[in-house]
Amino acid sequence: MNKEEEFLKALEEWKDKTLSPYCLDECTKFCCNLESIPLIEEELIRVLGKEPEDFSSHQHPDNPEIFIFKGICPQYEKETRQCQIRDERPKACRNYPFVVQFFGDLGLVGVTEGCQYFNSFERLKQLEEQFAQYSVTVSRIFEKPLRNR
Ligand code: SF4
Ligand code: SF4
Repeated sequence: MNKEEEFLKALEEWKDKTLSPYCLDECTKFCCNLESIPLIEEELIRVLGKEPEDFSSHQHPDNPEIFIFKGICPQYEKETRQCQIRDERPKACRNYPFVVQFFGDLGLVGVTEGCQYFNSFERLKQLEEQFAQYSVTVSRIFEKPLRNR
């Protein structure tokens, strides 16, 4: 396993232990209302109940394997504020709010602005300290990028 793979594994463990409980119990799920979710074919069926033929006008201009859904996600349940398919949610939702890039041994971790867990500079710093051994720099992404795929 290279350094990036090791880091991604450690980040997933951190998400399971720290971020996910916050997402489930405390957050109002800002990320489910971003109105721009990139989905692959199988996710299109799972999340929207749509066949790719019905959604061809939403294909990503540079990547025909990706479809962009705009709108309020039908899997978001207002009353409980939970995802109805959390264990099978699309990769873009799993990756949120992180965009990770490695340049050799140095990593850059972007955290999408708007994620409620990271609403303080302190938490960004804590994350950087937590993963200091991987030489990652953590910074906020101020634009609303398409979710990382
Ligand atoms: S699939 Fe689930 S996690 Fe993803 S946007 Fe919809 S409700 Fe949110
Ligand atoms: S906005 Fe951030 S804290 Fe809230 S559910 Fe999404 S990932 Fe979790």
